Amino acid sequence: MTWREPARDLPVIGSPDVLVVGAGSAGVAAAIAAARRGADTWLVERLSYVGGLATGGLINLLLTLDDGHGDQVVRGLCQELVDILDTRGAARYPPRREWGSTDVEPVERWRRWGLIWGAPPDVVRYSVAFDPEDFIDVAYENLSAAGVRLRLHSWCVAVHAPEGCVEAVVLESKAGRQVVRPRVVIDTTGDGDVLAGAGARHESVKVHPYLWFRLGGAHDLADDRGWSDGIFFRTTAPGRVLVPWGGPGAVDDKIDPLDPDELTRAELECRRDAMREAERLRAEVPELADAWRDDVAKQLGITESRRLVGDFVLEKDHGDVGFPDSVARTGHWTKRGVVYDIPYRCLTTPVVSNLLTAGRCISVSRYVHQATKEIPAAMATGEAAGAAAVHSLDVGGDVRTVDVDALRRDLYGNGAVVGGPVVDRTEAEPG
Ligand SMILES: Cc1cc2nc3c(=O)[nH]c(=O)nc-3n(C[C@H](O)[C@H](O)[C@H](O)COP(=O)(O)OP(=O)(O)OC[C@H]3O[C@@H](n4cnc5c(N)ncnc54)[C@H](O)[C@@H]3O)c2cc1C
Repeated sequence: MTWREPARDLPVIGSPDVLVVGAGSAGVAAAIAAARRGADTWLVERLSYVGGLATGGLINLLLTLDDGHGDQVVRGLCQELVDILDTRGAARYPPRREWGSTDVEPVERWRRWGLIWGAPPDVVRYSVAFDPEDFIDVAYENLSAAGVRLRLHSWCVAVHAPEGCVEAVVLESKAGRQVVRPRVVIDTTGDGDVLAGAGARHESVKVHPYLWFRLGGAHDLADDRGWSDGIFFRTTAPGRVLVPWGGPGAVDDKIDPLDPDELTRAELECRRDAMREAERLRAEVPELADAWRDDVAKQLGITESRRLVGDFVLEKDHGDVGFPDSVARTGHWTKRGVVYDIPYRCLTTPVVSNLLTAGRCISVSRYVHQATKEIPAAMATGEAAGAAAVHSLDVGGDVRTVDVDALRRDLYGNGAVVGGPVVDRTEAEPG
Protein backbone atom coordinates (compact mmCIF):
# COMPACT_ATOMS: atom_id res chain seq x y z
CA MET A 1 0.00 0.00 0.00
CA THR A 2 1.28 3.50 -0.71
CA TRP A 3 0.16 7.03 0.02
CA ARG A 4 1.19 9.83 -2.29
CA GLU A 5 2.74 12.73 -0.44
CA PRO A 6 1.38 15.99 -1.85
CA ALA A 7 3.96 17.99 -3.80
CA ARG A 8 5.10 21.14 -2.03
CA ASP A 9 7.77 23.80 -2.29
CA LEU A 10 10.65 23.45 0.17
CA PRO A 11 12.80 26.28 1.51
CA VAL A 12 16.38 26.32 0.20
CA ILE A 13 18.53 27.14 3.23
CA GLY A 14 21.89 27.36 1.51
CA SER A 15 24.20 26.61 -1.41
CA PRO A 16 27.59 25.83 0.14
CA ASP A 17 30.60 24.83 -1.90
CA VAL A 18 30.84 21.55 -0.03
CA LEU A 19 28.18 19.68 1.93
CA VAL A 20 29.44 16.85 4.13
CA VAL A 21 26.65 14.54 5.28
CA GLY A 22 27.41 12.56 8.45
CA ALA A 23 29.72 13.85 11.18
CA GLY A 24 31.51 10.66 12.16
CA SER A 25 35.30 10.54 12.15
CA ALA A 26 35.35 10.60 8.33
CA GLY A 27 32.90 13.48 8.08
CA VAL A 28 34.70 15.60 10.65
CA ALA A 29 37.99 15.10 8.79
CA ALA A 30 36.36 15.82 5.42
CA ALA A 31 34.75 19.04 6.64
CA ILE A 32 37.93 20.32 8.27
CA ALA A 33 39.98 19.48 5.17
CA ALA A 34 37.54 21.30 2.88
CA ALA A 35 37.08 24.36 5.09
CA ARG A 36 40.80 24.79 5.72
CA ARG A 37 41.23 25.00 1.97
CA GLY A 38 38.86 27.94 1.83
CA ALA A 39 35.59 26.29 0.79
CA ASP A 40 32.25 27.31 2.26
CA THR A 41 31.64 24.00 4.04
CA TRP A 42 28.61 22.62 5.81
CA LEU A 43 28.59 19.50 7.96
CA VAL A 44 25.21 17.91 8.65
CA GLU A 45 24.59 15.29 11.32
CA ARG A 46 21.38 13.50 12.34
CA LEU A 47 22.39 13.06 16.01
CA SER A 48 23.24 15.53 18.76
CA TYR A 49 27.00 15.04 18.68
CA VAL A 50 29.86 14.40 16.30
CA GLY A 51 32.20 11.41 16.03
CA GLY A 52 29.70 8.69 15.11
CA LEU A 53 30.89 5.25 16.15
CA ALA A 54 34.17 6.66 17.47
CA THR A 55 32.30 8.58 20.19
CA GLY A 56 28.64 7.55 20.49
CA GLY A 57 29.52 3.93 19.68
CA LEU A 58 32.31 3.98 22.30
CA ILE A 59 34.74 2.58 19.72
CA ASN A 60 37.53 4.37 21.55
CA LEU A 61 40.51 2.73 19.85
CA LEU A 62 42.30 4.11 16.81
CA LEU A 63 43.52 0.90 15.14
CA THR A 64 46.09 1.15 13.43
CA LEU A 65 48.25 4.02 12.23
CA ASP A 66 51.15 1.77 11.25
CA ASP A 67 51.96 -1.13 8.98
CA GLY A 68 52.92 -3.64 11.68
CA HIS A 69 56.62 -3.25 11.01
CA GLY A 70 57.01 0.06 12.81
CA ASP A 71 56.31 2.44 9.92
CA GLN A 72 53.54 5.00 10.31
CA VAL A 73 51.06 4.88 7.41
CA VAL A 74 48.34 7.28 8.59
CA ARG A 75 49.23 10.85 9.59
CA GLY A 76 47.44 14.04 8.55
CA LEU A 77 44.33 15.05 10.47
CA CYS A 78 44.25 11.77 12.39
CA GLN A 79 47.75 12.36 13.79
CA GLU A 80 46.80 15.97 14.51
CA LEU A 81 43.83 14.70 16.54
CA VAL A 82 46.07 12.29 18.46
CA ASP A 83 48.54 15.09 19.23
CA ILE A 84 45.79 17.31 20.63
CA LEU A 85 44.18 14.50 22.62
CA ASP A 86 47.63 13.70 23.98
CA THR A 87 48.13 17.22 25.32
CA ARG A 88 44.79 16.84 27.14
CA GLY A 89 45.81 13.51 28.69
CA ALA A 90 43.07 11.86 26.62
CA ALA A 91 45.18 9.50 24.49
CA ARG A 92 47.40 6.54 25.33
CA TYR A 93 49.57 4.68 22.83
CA PRO A 94 52.80 2.71 22.61
CA PRO A 95 55.95 4.83 22.25
CA ARG A 96 57.59 4.65 18.85
CA ARG A 97 60.43 2.44 20.14
CA GLU A 98 57.86 -0.30 20.86
CA TRP A 99 56.12 -0.29 17.47
CA GLY A 100 56.69 -3.64 15.79
CA SER A 101 57.88 -5.28 18.99
CA THR A 102 56.91 -8.90 19.66
CA ASP A 103 58.37 -8.88 23.18
CA VAL A 104 55.97 -10.37 25.68
CA GLU A 105 56.03 -7.53 28.20
CA PRO A 106 54.96 -4.66 25.90
CA VAL A 107 52.56 -6.93 24.02
CA GLU A 108 50.78 -7.90 27.25
CA ARG A 109 50.83 -4.31 28.53
CA TRP A 110 49.16 -2.92 25.40
CA ARG A 111 46.78 -5.86 25.12
CA ARG A 112 45.17 -4.54 28.30
CA TRP A 113 44.46 -1.30 26.46
CA GLY A 114 42.75 -3.16 23.59
CA LEU A 115 45.57 -2.38 21.19
CA ILE A 116 46.76 -5.93 20.33
CA TRP A 117 44.70 -7.85 17.76
CA GLY A 118 45.13 -10.45 15.04
CA ALA A 119 46.64 -13.88 14.77
CA PRO A 120 49.99 -14.67 16.42
CA PRO A 121 52.72 -13.61 16.45
CA ASP A 122 51.39 -10.73 18.54
CA VAL A 123 52.96 -7.42 17.72
CA VAL A 124 52.77 -3.94 19.21
CA ARG A 125 51.18 -1.58 16.70
CA TYR A 126 50.88 2.19 16.64
CA SER A 127 47.28 2.32 17.88
CA VAL A 128 45.70 4.80 20.25
CA ALA A 129 43.20 4.48 23.09
CA PHE A 130 41.33 7.77 23.49
CA ASP A 131 38.56 9.42 25.47
CA PRO A 132 35.40 9.94 23.40
CA GLU A 133 34.26 13.11 25.16
CA ASP A 134 37.62 14.74 24.46
CA PHE A 135 37.31 13.57 20.84
CA ILE A 136 34.02 15.48 20.63
CA ASP A 137 35.48 18.60 22.27
CA VAL A 138 38.51 18.61 19.97
CA ALA A 139 36.33 18.03 16.91
CA TYR A 140 34.09 20.98 17.81
CA GLU A 141 37.11 23.22 18.38
CA ASN A 142 38.75 22.22 15.08
CA LEU A 143 35.52 22.47 13.08
CA SER A 144 34.85 25.89 14.52
CA ALA A 145 38.42 27.10 13.94
CA ALA A 146 38.24 25.92 10.33
CA GLY A 147 34.99 27.82 9.79
CA VAL A 148 32.74 24.81 9.16
CA ARG A 149 29.02 25.44 9.52
CA LEU A 150 27.86 22.52 11.67
CA ARG A 151 24.18 21.54 11.65
CA LEU A 152 23.24 18.83 14.18
CA HIS A 153 19.78 17.26 14.61
CA SER A 154 19.29 17.12 10.85
CA TRP A 155 18.70 13.96 8.84
CA CYS A 156 19.51 13.75 5.16
CA VAL A 157 16.34 12.09 3.90
CA ALA A 158 16.47 12.51 0.13
CA VAL A 159 18.90 13.35 -2.66
CA HIS A 160 17.95 14.58 -6.11
CA ALA A 161 20.47 13.87 -8.86
CA PRO A 162 18.33 13.73 -11.99
CA GLU A 163 21.07 14.34 -14.58
CA GLY A 164 23.92 12.52 -12.83
CA CYS A 165 24.64 15.54 -10.63
CA VAL A 166 23.31 16.17 -7.13
CA GLU A 167 21.06 19.22 -7.35
CA ALA A 168 19.36 19.10 -3.99
CA VAL A 169 19.85 17.40 -0.66
CA VAL A 170 16.74 17.30 1.51
CA LEU A 171 17.17 17.60 5.26
CA GLU A 172 14.52 16.77 7.85
CA SER A 173 14.58 18.29 11.32
CA LYS A 174 12.37 20.02 13.87
CA ALA A 175 12.38 22.87 11.35
CA GLY A 176 10.66 20.63 8.81
CA ARG A 177 11.96 19.66 5.38
CA GLN A 178 14.65 21.96 4.02
CA VAL A 179 16.89 21.86 0.97
CA VAL A 180 20.61 22.43 0.58
CA ARG A 181 21.99 22.89 -2.93
CA PRO A 182 25.74 22.26 -2.67
CA ARG A 183 28.28 22.29 -5.48
CA VAL A 184 29.83 19.07 -4.17
CA VAL A 185 28.53 16.49 -1.67
CA ILE A 186 30.56 14.10 0.46
CA ASP A 187 28.77 11.04 1.80
CA THR A 188 30.20 10.19 5.21
CA THR A 189 27.01 8.69 6.61
CA GLY A 190 28.68 5.31 7.07
CA ASP A 191 25.51 3.77 5.66
CA GLY A 192 25.87 5.42 2.26
CA ASP A 193 22.51 7.19 2.53
CA VAL A 194 23.52 9.90 0.07
CA LEU A 195 25.08 7.65 -2.53
CA ALA A 196 22.03 5.38 -2.44
CA GLY A 197 19.68 8.34 -2.73
CA ALA A 198 21.68 9.65 -5.68
CA GLY A 199 21.38 6.34 -7.50
CA ALA A 200 25.00 5.18 -7.19
CA ARG A 201 25.63 1.45 -7.37
CA HIS A 202 26.29 -0.17 -4.02
CA GLU A 203 26.30 -3.39 -2.02
CA SER A 204 24.73 -3.92 1.37
CA VAL A 205 25.22 -6.57 4.04
CA LYS A 206 23.66 -7.79 7.27
CA VAL A 207 25.86 -7.83 10.37
CA HIS A 208 25.95 -8.90 13.99
CA PRO A 209 25.53 -5.76 16.10
CA TYR A 210 27.71 -4.76 19.05
CA LEU A 211 26.98 -2.60 22.07
CA TRP A 212 30.14 -1.49 23.85
CA PHE A 213 29.86 -0.12 27.37
CA ARG A 214 32.04 1.22 30.16
CA LEU A 215 32.23 0.40 33.85
CA GLY A 216 33.57 2.83 36.44
CA GLY A 217 34.99 2.15 39.88
CA ALA A 218 37.34 -0.69 38.90
CA HIS A 219 40.18 -1.44 41.34
CA ASP A 220 43.83 -2.41 40.90
CA LEU A 221 44.19 -1.93 37.17
CA ALA A 222 47.96 -2.13 37.33
CA ASP A 223 49.75 -2.98 34.10
CA ASP A 224 51.43 -6.01 35.63
CA ARG A 225 48.22 -7.81 36.56
CA GLY A 226 46.74 -10.38 34.19
CA TRP A 227 43.18 -9.17 34.48
CA SER A 228 41.83 -8.55 31.02
CA ASP A 229 41.84 -11.50 28.58
CA GLY A 230 40.31 -9.17 26.02
CA ILE A 231 36.96 -9.04 27.84
CA PHE A 232 37.54 -5.48 28.96
CA PHE A 233 40.17 -2.83 28.36
CA ARG A 234 41.80 -0.03 30.28
CA THR A 235 40.86 3.50 29.35
CA THR A 236 42.50 6.89 29.78
CA ALA A 237 40.41 7.42 32.95
CA PRO A 238 41.69 5.62 36.07
CA GLY A 239 39.18 3.08 37.33
CA ARG A 240 37.15 3.00 34.13
CA VAL A 241 37.14 -0.01 31.77
CA LEU A 242 35.73 -0.43 28.28
CA VAL A 243 33.80 -3.62 27.53
CA PRO A 244 33.69 -4.45 23.78
CA TRP A 245 30.49 -6.47 24.01
CA GLY A 246 28.60 -7.97 21.09
CA GLY A 247 29.23 -9.55 17.72
CA PRO A 248 28.93 -13.15 16.53
CA GLY A 249 29.91 -14.74 19.85
CA ALA A 250 27.34 -12.80 21.83
CA VAL A 251 24.47 -12.01 19.46
CA ASP A 252 22.55 -14.80 17.68
CA ASP A 253 21.24 -13.07 14.57
CA LYS A 254 22.58 -10.71 11.99
CA ILE A 255 20.47 -7.63 11.37
CA ASP A 256 19.86 -5.33 8.45
CA PRO A 257 21.39 -2.04 9.68
CA LEU A 258 19.10 -0.13 7.32
CA ASP A 259 15.87 -1.51 8.81
CA PRO A 260 14.60 0.57 11.77
CA ASP A 261 12.52 -2.31 13.12
CA GLU A 262 15.51 -4.64 13.17
CA LEU A 263 17.65 -1.90 14.70
CA THR A 264 15.05 -1.33 17.41
CA ARG A 265 14.89 -5.01 18.26
CA ALA A 266 18.67 -5.18 18.36
CA GLU A 267 18.89 -2.10 20.62
CA LEU A 268 16.62 -3.74 23.18
CA GLU A 269 18.12 -7.22 23.03
CA CYS A 270 21.73 -6.02 22.99
CA ARG A 271 21.13 -3.73 25.93
CA ARG A 272 19.51 -6.50 27.95
CA ASP A 273 22.30 -8.98 27.22
CA ALA A 274 25.12 -6.45 27.59
CA MET A 275 23.85 -5.51 31.03
CA ARG A 276 23.75 -9.20 31.96
CA GLU A 277 27.40 -9.32 30.97
CA ALA A 278 28.06 -6.32 33.23
CA GLU A 279 26.48 -8.21 36.12
CA ARG A 280 28.56 -11.28 35.36
CA LEU A 281 31.77 -9.24 35.31
CA ARG A 282 30.91 -7.65 38.64
CA ALA A 283 30.24 -11.07 40.13
CA GLU A 284 33.27 -12.88 38.71
CA VAL A 285 36.10 -10.36 38.30
CA PRO A 286 37.51 -9.18 41.64
CA GLU A 287 38.73 -5.84 40.19
CA LEU A 288 35.16 -5.07 39.09
CA ALA A 289 33.34 -6.16 42.23
CA ASP A 290 32.39 -2.56 43.12
CA ALA A 291 32.15 -1.25 39.56
CA TRP A 292 29.15 0.72 38.36
CA ARG A 293 27.72 1.15 34.90
CA ASP A 294 29.42 4.27 33.60
CA ASP A 295 27.74 4.49 30.22
CA VAL A 296 26.40 2.38 27.38
CA ALA A 297 27.09 3.22 23.73
CA LYS A 298 24.47 5.63 22.43
CA GLN A 299 24.44 3.81 19.13
CA LEU A 300 24.78 0.16 18.15
CA GLY A 301 28.16 -0.96 16.85
CA ILE A 302 27.48 -1.57 13.16
CA THR A 303 30.63 -2.61 11.34
CA GLU A 304 29.20 -2.25 7.85
CA SER A 305 26.06 -1.74 5.83
CA ARG A 306 26.15 -0.12 2.38
CA ARG A 307 29.39 0.11 0.42
CA LEU A 308 29.79 2.04 -2.81
CA VAL A 309 30.62 0.10 -5.96
CA GLY A 310 32.50 2.98 -7.48
CA ASP A 311 35.01 3.71 -10.21
CA PHE A 312 37.34 1.17 -8.62
CA VAL A 313 36.83 -1.57 -6.04
CA LEU A 314 39.88 -2.20 -3.86
CA GLU A 315 40.30 -5.96 -3.32
CA LYS A 316 42.35 -8.25 -1.11
CA ASP A 317 44.89 -8.86 -3.89
CA HIS A 318 45.63 -5.13 -4.06
CA GLY A 319 47.62 -5.27 -0.83
CA ASP A 320 50.97 -3.49 -1.29
CA VAL A 321 50.01 -2.25 -4.78
CA GLY A 322 51.07 1.39 -5.23
CA PHE A 323 48.32 2.98 -7.30
CA PRO A 324 49.31 6.18 -9.14
CA ASP A 325 46.08 7.87 -7.96
CA SER A 326 46.44 6.75 -4.35
CA VAL A 327 45.23 9.42 -1.89
CA ALA A 328 45.47 7.54 1.41
CA ARG A 329 47.17 4.50 2.89
CA THR A 330 46.17 2.13 5.65
CA GLY A 331 47.57 -0.88 7.41
CA HIS A 332 45.39 -3.80 8.46
CA TRP A 333 44.58 -4.12 12.17
CA THR A 334 44.73 -7.92 12.16
CA LYS A 335 47.39 -8.40 9.49
CA ARG A 336 50.99 -7.48 9.92
CA GLY A 337 53.00 -6.01 7.10
CA VAL A 338 50.35 -5.51 4.42
CA VAL A 339 49.33 -1.97 3.48
CA TYR A 340 46.52 -0.84 1.22
CA ASP A 341 46.95 2.26 -0.87
CA ILE A 342 43.49 3.69 -1.48
CA PRO A 343 42.99 4.99 -5.03
CA TYR A 344 40.99 8.17 -5.48
CA ARG A 345 38.63 6.12 -7.67
CA CYS A 346 37.39 4.30 -4.51
CA LEU A 347 35.78 7.59 -3.46
CA THR A 348 33.99 8.33 -6.74
CA THR A 349 31.15 6.85 -8.74
CA PRO A 350 30.64 6.84 -12.52
CA VAL A 351 26.99 7.72 -11.91
CA VAL A 352 27.14 11.07 -10.10
CA SER A 353 29.63 13.79 -11.04
CA ASN A 354 29.64 15.87 -7.84
CA LEU A 355 29.58 13.11 -5.22
CA LEU A 356 32.45 11.74 -3.12
CA THR A 357 32.37 9.11 -0.39
CA ALA A 358 34.66 8.59 2.58
CA GLY A 359 34.86 6.45 5.70
CA ARG A 360 33.23 3.07 5.98
CA CYS A 361 31.12 3.29 2.82
CA ILE A 362 33.91 3.68 0.22
CA SER A 363 34.32 1.32 -2.72
CA VAL A 364 36.20 -1.71 -1.40
CA SER A 365 35.58 -5.42 -1.07
CA ARG A 366 34.34 -6.84 2.24
CA TYR A 367 37.83 -8.08 2.97
CA VAL A 368 39.52 -4.72 2.45
CA HIS A 369 36.67 -3.00 4.29
CA GLN A 370 38.08 -4.59 7.44
CA ALA A 371 41.06 -2.25 7.01
CA THR A 372 39.50 0.86 5.46
CA LYS A 373 36.63 1.03 7.97
CA GLU A 374 38.98 1.62 10.90
CA ILE A 375 38.92 5.13 12.34
CA PRO A 376 42.41 6.23 11.17
CA ALA A 377 41.66 5.04 7.62
CA ALA A 378 38.20 6.65 7.75
CA MET A 379 39.81 9.94 8.74
CA ALA A 380 42.41 9.57 5.97
CA THR A 381 39.78 9.02 3.27
CA GLY A 382 37.70 11.81 4.81
CA GLU A 383 40.66 14.18 4.59
CA ALA A 384 41.27 13.13 0.99
CA ALA A 385 37.61 13.61 0.05
CA GLY A 386 37.47 17.06 1.68
CA ALA A 387 40.55 18.19 -0.20
CA ALA A 388 39.32 16.63 -3.44
CA ALA A 389 35.99 18.42 -3.15
CA VAL A 390 37.81 21.75 -3.06
CA HIS A 391 40.01 20.82 -6.04
CA SER A 392 36.86 19.91 -7.95
CA LEU A 393 35.46 23.42 -7.54
CA ASP A 394 37.96 24.53 -10.21
CA VAL A 395 36.37 22.10 -12.67
CA GLY A 396 32.71 22.86 -12.01
CA GLY A 397 32.37 20.41 -9.13
CA ASP A 398 33.10 17.40 -11.32
CA VAL A 399 35.03 15.26 -8.87
CA ARG A 400 36.05 12.77 -11.56
CA THR A 401 38.05 15.32 -13.53
CA VAL A 402 40.12 16.50 -10.57
CA ASP A 403 43.88 16.74 -11.20
CA VAL A 404 44.80 13.84 -8.92
CA ASP A 405 48.53 14.57 -9.00
CA ALA A 406 47.83 18.06 -7.66
CA LEU A 407 45.47 16.58 -5.07
CA ARG A 408 48.15 14.14 -3.91
CA ARG A 409 50.72 16.93 -3.67
CA ASP A 410 48.27 19.03 -1.66
CA LEU A 411 47.50 16.20 0.78
CA TYR A 412 51.15 15.27 1.12
CA GLY A 413 52.17 18.87 1.63
CA ASN A 414 49.66 19.11 4.45
CA GLY A 415 51.03 16.11 6.29
CA ALA A 416 48.97 13.19 4.98
CA VAL A 417 50.38 9.85 3.86
CA VAL A 418 49.05 9.39 0.34
CA GLY A 419 50.68 6.11 -0.69
CA GLY A 420 51.39 5.38 -4.35
CA PRO A 421 54.49 6.73 -6.08
CA VAL A 422 56.79 9.05 -4.17
CA VAL A 423 55.40 12.59 -4.25
CA ASP A 424 57.83 15.12 -5.64
CA ARG A 425 58.70 17.12 -2.51
CA THR A 426 59.66 20.17 -4.53
CA GLU A 427 56.11 20.42 -5.84
CA ALA A 428 54.31 19.67 -2.56
CA GLU A 429 51.82 22.38 -1.64
CA PRO A 430 51.62 23.17 2.05
CA GLY A 431 48.28 24.78 2.88
C1 LIG B 1 31.95 -3.08 17.07
C2 LIG B 1 32.94 -2.28 16.29
C3 LIG B 1 34.26 -2.30 16.67
C4 LIG B 1 35.19 -1.52 15.99
N1 LIG B 1 36.47 -1.48 16.45
C5 LIG B 1 37.30 -0.55 15.94
C6 LIG B 1 38.54 -0.29 16.58
O1 LIG B 1 38.89 -0.91 17.60
N2 LIG B 1 39.35 0.67 16.03
C7 LIG B 1 38.99 1.36 14.90
O2 LIG B 1 39.77 2.21 14.45
N3 LIG B 1 37.82 1.14 14.30
C8 LIG B 1 36.95 0.22 14.80
N4 LIG B 1 35.74 0.03 14.24
C9 LIG B 1 35.40 0.71 12.99
C10 LIG B 1 35.10 2.19 13.21
O3 LIG B 1 34.56 2.44 14.47
C11 LIG B 1 34.09 2.70 12.17
O4 LIG B 1 34.16 2.02 10.97
C12 LIG B 1 34.37 4.18 11.93
O5 LIG B 1 34.22 4.86 13.16
C13 LIG B 1 33.45 4.69 10.85
O6 LIG B 1 33.55 6.09 10.75
P1 LIG B 1 32.61 6.83 9.70
O7 LIG B 1 32.80 8.27 9.96
O8 LIG B 1 32.85 6.29 8.34
O9 LIG B 1 31.12 6.36 10.08
P2 LIG B 1 30.27 6.59 11.40
O10 LIG B 1 31.12 6.67 12.59
O11 LIG B 1 29.21 5.57 11.36
O12 LIG B 1 29.64 8.04 11.19
C14 LIG B 1 28.56 8.27 10.32
C15 LIG B 1 27.83 9.51 10.82
O13 LIG B 1 26.81 9.84 9.89
C16 LIG B 1 25.62 10.13 10.59
N5 LIG B 1 24.51 9.83 9.68
C17 LIG B 1 24.16 8.62 9.20
N6 LIG B 1 23.14 8.74 8.36
C18 LIG B 1 22.82 10.05 8.31
C19 LIG B 1 21.85 10.79 7.59
N7 LIG B 1 20.99 10.20 6.76
N8 LIG B 1 21.79 12.13 7.78
C20 LIG B 1 22.66 12.75 8.63
N9 LIG B 1 23.60 12.09 9.33
C21 LIG B 1 23.70 10.75 9.15
C22 LIG B 1 25.68 9.21 11.78
O14 LIG B 1 24.83 9.63 12.82
C23 LIG B 1 27.16 9.27 12.15
O15 LIG B 1 27.45 10.34 13.02
C24 LIG B 1 34.78 -0.75 14.89
C25 LIG B 1 33.44 -0.74 14.50
C26 LIG B 1 32.52 -1.48 15.21
C27 LIG B 1 31.08 -1.38 14.84
